[in-house]
Amino acid sequence: MSGHSLDELKKQIPLLDYLQAHDWRTARQLSRGRIMGLCPLHEDHKPSFLVDPLKNLFYCYGCDRGGDVIRFAGLYRQVRFPQALALLRQWLGLPPLLRETTEFYCVQLHRHAEAVAYLYQRGVRSSEVIEHMRIGYAPGGCLRGWLTELGYSRLTLCEAGLVTAAGYDTYLRRVVFPLEGNLYGRSLSATAPPHRFLPGAKGGLYSWDQVRLFPDVILVEGLFDYAALWQAGFHNATCSLGTHHNARQFRQLCDFPRTVYLVFDADANGSGQKAAQSLAGRLTEQGLNVRIVVLPDGHDPNSFFLRDGDARQFQSLLEAAR
Ligand SMILES: [Zn+2]
Repeated sequence: MSGHSLDELKKQIPLLDYLQAHDWRTARQLSRGRIMGLCPLHEDHKPSFLVDPLKNLFYCYGCDRGGDVIRFAGLYRQVRFPQALALLRQWLGLPPLLRETTEFYCVQLHRHAEAVAYLYQRGVRSSEVIEHMRIGYAPGGCLRGWLTELGYSRLTLCEAGLVTAAGYDTYLRRVVFPLEGNLYGRSLSATAPPHRFLPGAKGGLYSWDQVRLFPDVILVEGLFDYAALWQAGFHNATCSLGTHHNARQFRQLCDFPRTVYLVFDADANGSGQKAAQSLAGRLTEQGLNVRIVVLPDGHDPNSFFLRDGDARQFQSLLEAAR
């Protein structure tokens, strides 16, 4: 990339916009338009992160690091310069492309009985939840042609991770769920890796804009757990796509003094419960009210509802949670 196109990229992504999109907030205004806030790059307790939106530069008095938006993306995502550039270009270009991909895959879902059957077998049965989550299906072998018709270059599609270097659709026989800036694909085939994401961040908590309005939220591990709860009428559920929570997801949970119900898998090796205990400790330190919900042995929220659990029984588990 030439110096000229680097400058272009920086102009297209003002540092402040990028920071705010990653949940950064101003703590106070200084002279000449400069602002201070908590540093996203280290554990910061008093605002030491200075941003100059006019110069598009930042500097942290706590961890002594500074630079432009590319430097920030590199430090924040812990990647080298070329990957930071790729992430920024993707951040810039993905949303409309992701929207079109999602719409295309939603249409495909209703044309492929095997996908609908798979969802049914996983307990995703109401058309409301399919619509609400914008669940689609990637049969493979047709997305590239469609997006090319819409004018996207092969390079753009490869960079977004939707098409492989060899020119094939990346997602093949996968039920797909659009996330904030990514696309999760669950394979129908037993031989392919079950989970797949596009390159880049998975984003924050699922459906957080809607869920954050509730004083009590239910946090589960996966999208099929989320779907089961949503169908049963628990619209205050969210999921983190795994038991590991990224910094952004953690901050989201803590943005209001709410009650958080943790409903992790009751797996035999106890890893779900261990993860719940550890997260509960960290959330409690932040002043949240945390309850750990204990499911019957071997269950996750999805299987609980799939094997005849109902909303009333789940409500009792919530009430029994400590
Ligand atoms: Zn810092």
